[in-house]
Amino acid sequence: MNRFDTDLLHALGDLDDALAVLDGEFLVALNAPMQALLPGDAGGLAADWAQALQGLASALAAPLGERRRCGVSGEYLAQRVALDARHVLLRLVDDRERLHHLQRQLDDREGLLFTSRSLTVSEMGSVLAHELNQPIGATANLLRGLKLRLARRHPDSTDELAALDKAVAQIAYASQIIGRVREYTQSRQPKAERLDLGALVHQSLALLDWDLQREAVQLALRLPDAPVPVQGDAVMLQQVLINLLRNALDALRLDRPDAPLIDIELRVEAGRAELRVGDNGPGITPQTEARLFLPFSSTKPNGMGLGLSICRSLIEMHQGRLWFTRRDAGGCCFHFALPVLAAATPPTLEKTA
Ligand code: ADP
Repeated sequence: MNRFDTDLLHALGDLDDALAVLDGEFLVALNAPMQALLPGDAGGLAADWAQALQGLASALAAPLGERRRCGVSGEYLAQRVALDARHVLLRLVDDRERLHHLQRQLDDREGLLFTSRSLTVSEMGSVLAHELNQPIGATANLLRGLKLRLARRHPDSTDELAALDKAVAQIAYASQIIGRVREYTQSRQPKAERLDLGALVHQSLALLDWDLQREAVQLALRLPDAPVPVQGDAVMLQQVLINLLRNALDALRLDRPDAPLIDIELRVEAGRAELRVGDNGPGITPQTEARLFLPFSSTKPNGMGLGLSICRSLIEMHQGRLWFTRRDAGGCCFHFALPVLAAATPPTLEKTA
């Protein structure tokens, strides 16, 4: 080792970054942080020594001055600078701290978005619950009264009576939601009942059968034969399903394909139930996708842009996930996944003598 290298090594020893001096193909000197990271001997071939860190060999081949990432997840930044006509200094900057910090920031941001979605749900919820309770109750009473009078005066008006029944069922559903929102804003906890997701799909479709018929939408339903038990709040989960179905219906109405279709699939995989609601409507543009789950972003003339943001919050409250994909055959598909409950233990039969 010549004087230049020894002095340099001495000086490098005081620095925090991992440094090495290369002379052409040879490794001439390493400071302590570099030794700790990549042990090597002065005089050896730099290319052999560099094998110990993923991506370093190709960083050594990069033009002088250029910064290249290396390490298993790119956690080090490698840069070479010329010291003189012969010697090159290799510097490895440990970027783990900054990457951790960045990840923490992303996690915090996700947490903040979740909190703000929950706040939106709960604040909007309490205002709406308060304001809508009265008119909904009054409408339900009026409809029931109307049905009674119609049944007395025109008992043969079966179609009208059936339509009134449906209207009363819709109002009952609305008032159930309002009631549940009021309970939730007080307790801030979804209910934890044992539910069958397949049954929930049927109940939701029953509330939308009129819309499906009116829009002449074909329904493809793929549900497992066995019940799919999950723990959750029936009203909240039904709200999610109805929102997704209504969005699919809106999309098919606004931009009608030749054979409008909604396909629903429920399947169980690796302890999770995944429900998919797809449609062959116009699909979602990248611009809409970027703002899809943000509150108050809607492309509909009278849309509030709250449905998907509320749905995502409701699913997250159930330890689930809600997301969107594009369908290969056109249109889009919304998915949510929830943990499946273990099959109920069959009741033990009492032995009779
Ligand atoms: P809103 O229905 O009030 O617009 P949402 O949050 O439910 O609010 O939906 C936000 C936007 O997402 C819609 O305005 C629409 O642009 C888009 N979207 C949601 N579902 C679909 C779908 N199935 N097909 C096409 N676009 C959709």
